[in-house]
Amino acid sequence: MIRFYNTLTGRVEPFEPIEPGVVKLYTCGPTVYDFPHIGNWRAYAFEDLLKRFLLFSGFKVTHVMNITDVDDKTIRGANAKGVGLEEYTRPFIEAFRKDRDTLNILPADHYPRATEHIREMVEIIKVLLEKGFAYRRDGSIYFAIDKFPSYGGLSKINLEDLRPGSRGDADEYEKESVHDFALWKAPKEGEPSWDEGIGPGRPGWHIECSAMSSKYLGRTFDIHCGGVDNIFPHHENEIAQSEAANGVKFVNYWLHCHHLVVDGEKMAKSKGNFYTLSDILATGYDPLDVRYLLISTHYRKMLNFTFEALEQAKAARSRLGNFLGDLEDVTKEPDGNQDVRPLVENARAGFVAGLEDDLNISESLAALFSLVKMIYPLFSQGEISRRQAETVLGFFSSVENVLAVKPSPVRSASGTVTGVSDAGGKATVLESEVQAKIEARRKARTDKNFALADAIRQELLSQGILLEDTKDGVRWKKVGPSKT
Ligand code: AMP
Ligand code: ZN
Repeated sequence: MIRFYNTLTGRVEPFEPIEPGVVKLYTCGPTVYDFPHIGNWRAYAFEDLLKRFLLFSGFKVTHVMNITDVDDKTIRGANAKGVGLEEYTRPFIEAFRKDRDTLNILPADHYPRATEHIREMVEIIKVLLEKGFAYRRDGSIYFAIDKFPSYGGLSKINLEDLRPGSRGDADEYEKESVHDFALWKAPKEGEPSWDEGIGPGRPGWHIECSAMSSKYLGRTFDIHCGGVDNIFPHHENEIAQSEAANGVKFVNYWLHCHHLVVDGEKMAKSKGNFYTLSDILATGYDPLDVRYLLISTHYRKMLNFTFEALEQAKAARSRLGNFLGDLEDVTKEPDGNQDVRPLVENARAGFVAGLEDDLNISESLAALFSLVKMIYPLFSQGEISRRQAETVLGFFSSVENVLAVKPSPVRSASGTVTGVSDAGGKATVLESEVQAKIEARRKARTDKNFALADAIRQELLSQGILLEDTKDGVRWKKVGPSKT
């Protein structure tokens, strides 16, 4: 039985989808006013772990992720650059897709864009006006939160000091300034505007997700996710709009991940601790080391991103990779006395039990590493046959459907060099072993053995040597984050 912590009820609850065997999942997607940062990728990686585990557990999943391509931030950005919304948001949407694939995140079934769903938003606003939940003021339309008695139920905000009728136009605001929020904003100089029968204007951010989720998943669906910053006001307002308009419960389970911070601090460009995925990959890490780090902290805990933590993630992933590599190398035919199947079944049970318990990934990973620990002595005792190795490998390949971290062996390349290094200008100061590894990597690339080439690059990086391929050959430099 899968259980999730539901922000709405504040409890861990058994998960039961509306339709047996089918999960309808909505995850708030990128606001495409800038390149996604690793905090965003923490949220998307958590959602991917959730979705992959549901698929692994036999559910069919319909996943919708919106693209917010019109809101306060995208309009501000496009105006500052003097271009239209479409042109302004395009590179950020492309970067989102590219990073998503790089991090092995499964694509959603639908990526609806806000600008392509204005009519659906207007339909909901019309109903809210008709039912008396919305009112017009100065060309805009607002949601009257005092008309919706359960307002605040998700975020547990205190409505005691609320000034009735206080209004705000901004898409984002703090809990302290809870007020009637804009569903439809009056046209302004320099802002895009649509005229769909409720007067000219443009949508507020919150109505976008209400409209796009119900269009693709129905008026009531199973799971809605986002980061904790989405709880108020965004998700609180989504519930108010959807339930007031439709008269039925909007979402059964609300799952929110805690934030990613960098070196214990909120990411901010001004602090110089703001990372995109490309920033991190430029230091030489494999993107799946980043994925491992993002998914290996429980989603409801704050994730403190440091290069030390990334190094540990990389080491854990390599440990798995080396183990799998050793299993692949087993050729011994006769079985030993030890049957590995009970060990594997035990690990499988531990892995599943962990994730079933509100995605307790630490328990699941512990089950895997304890299997590794139990199998290794059996190698040295000559107990592992090819058949048994395949049993263990089969288990890890099913686990890979959930983790998607492609652990690959990191093998030493020393002693395999036959030839002269083509390293660049700094080659003369390389120690012979490093030089040998650069040559081994060059050979591996010539042989199209990119996994080995990558492994050698990673191995050097873990020793503090970053390789750079330039038109003049391979250059190296010492880098800070990795230990030397
Ligand atoms: P945005 O593009 O700002 O609308 O955010 C897209 C998703 O990333 C939302 O689910 C946010 O809650 C989430 N998010 C934003 N910043 C962080 C962070 N630092 N840590 C985790 N999730 C975040
Ligand atoms: Zn949303």
